[in-house]
Amino acid sequence: MNTGIYFPLSAILFSLLLIFAYFSKEKIDTEETHVYGWLIIVNFFALIIELLCSWASTIYATYPFLSNCIYKTYLACLILWISIFTHYIYYLLYDSTNIKLHMIYKYIILFGIIIIYFLPIELVLLGGKTGYTTGLSVYYSYYFAGVLIFVSILMILMNLKRALTKKFLPLYFLIVFGSIATILQIFSPGLLILSYIECFVVSVMYHTIENPDVKTIEQLNQAKDAAVKANQAKSDFLSSMSHEIRTPLNAICGFSNSLLENDGVSEEAKVDVKNIIMASDSLLDLVNGILDISKIEANKLEIIETNYNFYKIFDELVLLTKARIGDKPLEFKYSYDESIPKYLYGDGMRVKQVILNLLTNSVKYTKEGFVEFRVRSVIKDNIVRLIISVEDSGIGIKQENIEKLFTKFERLGVEKETTTEGTGLGLAITKKLVEMMGGKVSVQSIYGQGSLFTLSIDQKIVSGNELEKLLKDEATEVKASDEVVDASGKRVLVVDDNQLNLRVAERLLKAYKCDIECVSSGSECITKIVNGENYDLILLDDMMPKMSGSETLIKLKEIDNFNIPVCVLTANAITGMREEYLSKGFNDYLSKPIVKEELNRVIKKYLKK
Ligand code: ADP
Repeated sequence: MNTGIYFPLSAILFSLLLIFAYFSKEKIDTEETHVYGWLIIVNFFALIIELLCSWASTIYATYPFLSNCIYKTYLACLILWISIFTHYIYYLLYDSTNIKLHMIYKYIILFGIIIIYFLPIELVLLGGKTGYTTGLSVYYSYYFAGVLIFVSILMILMNLKRALTKKFLPLYFLIVFGSIATILQIFSPGLLILSYIECFVVSVMYHTIENPDVKTIEQLNQAKDAAVKANQAKSDFLSSMSHEIRTPLNAICGFSNSLLENDGVSEEAKVDVKNIIMASDSLLDLVNGILDISKIEANKLEIIETNYNFYKIFDELVLLTKARIGDKPLEFKYSYDESIPKYLYGDGMRVKQVILNLLTNSVKYTKEGFVEFRVRSVIKDNIVRLIISVEDSGIGIKQENIEKLFTKFERLGVEKETTTEGTGLGLAITKKLVEMMGGKVSVQSIYGQGSLFTLSIDQKIVSGNELEKLLKDEATEVKASDEVVDASGKRVLVVDDNQLNLRVAERLLKAYKCDIECVSSGSECITKIVNGENYDLILLDDMMPKMSGSETLIKLKEIDNFNIPVCVLTANAITGMREEYLSKGFNDYLSKPIVKEELNRVIKKYLKK
């Protein structure tokens, strides 16, 4: 057997394997993959025809027409392959397909290929049985191929930015190796290697850009990146929305609270004001819920552990639940194990938030009967396991809905009951927070009879010197809380770009009898200090146009002998913000809407005589 046949045969085998590997894999169906499929099929046929060409030279003398047809088909395959390749480059460079252009291109190629068969071809025999073809048909085909490659290069030059990527590597290979092959063919016209070059290019393509596995991973990664970006955009939107909602809420809550303390307001009007406050509180709960969910999704939710008074939290929860029950015919039972230590170490605010969620739900979904809140405990070493249960005789939850319970925005069986307020966020947040604290949440419920939610959370017990210090602080705090804060003679400067917020702060501060001055920008605040004005406290809004509160603080600290306490006033209420502002150099932190107790604390700390 002629040993010269081994190389073309192995190329055919390789091409066949490539076809098998490519078509047996699951692919993402795009125009590019479609065109690539054609590239490998045409290459396979070109390799077979190339093999036939060596046989064609042997039968040339007897069957010149058949032999010429085989040579012309070889040229046709060459044009077809390069035209498909040019098409492929077009898809890589232009995202949209121009159907009209596509059709015109198809007809030009078809017409161009048919012409090959009408032009003369001649075989020049090189001694023995090998030879090479010449004649108009051959020159025409090479020029046609040259024009197509030129079109590809032109398209690339017009889109150079896009073309400098890994995707175009095969084209550069084709240009380099195609040129080498052409030069080789000039010197040795009998050498037919163009199909091998094509074979090499398609296999490079397979291993770099057209491997279905790699493509799928690439597409999945792109989809994942897009999803992450969309999620981030959503979280940013939610947190900026909740910031925007907090600002007007500050005005609503602030003015309402000050009206409640105004003796000139009639008792009847005060009832309305209380309703306004209650509605604003629910709105604030909602905003906080949205903020929490956006933080959970952005993985920004943090558990901040400190020492806290468990009994204080229990009492607050009881008071809040009683207020929520109002006139509802509900018996509220509550109890806790006396063995639970007073001071625990953990995220007290979050513990309170998750229990309040359960209690609020029980009150919300129970028309009559009872709601029972119990805290039991198991103590081991310095850890107390709090077993918190909230039971009710309410509407209950269907068995099939229990699994969906902790999914956000999922509201069960309340479709028709439009009067029950809710977003379906509470339990999703509760579960996440409890899990972040290392605890568990479980539900038992009988539809129509009631539900029992149980949380178990481990908290450290505060003991020794630390406990002594806390008990001592508590004693002095109790005494201090009895004192009426009189800050007369003290000067407070409030800086906020929002006029309404300035008026709210003014109203709330009035109760402390201090002198209040308001300015609406950071630069005005700096001018006052530079001009020698002295204050006992500065309340500084952070989000202001031109110069933010944080930038203002930096400038203030550059002023010689500046030592006035500065408290940031912000609607940026994300967890961890307090710590961030304190680390920036602010002395204290007040979130909007201003909570009266918090303002009391700040005033006491900085303005007490
Ligand atoms: P929301 O109460 O704002 O709708 P939650 O996440 O707190 O959202 O609760 C999700 C759903 O679980 C509620 O819509 C309600 O159908 C159901 N659910 C929660 N707690 C109870 C309960 N104590 N009794 C009956 N159904 C409840």
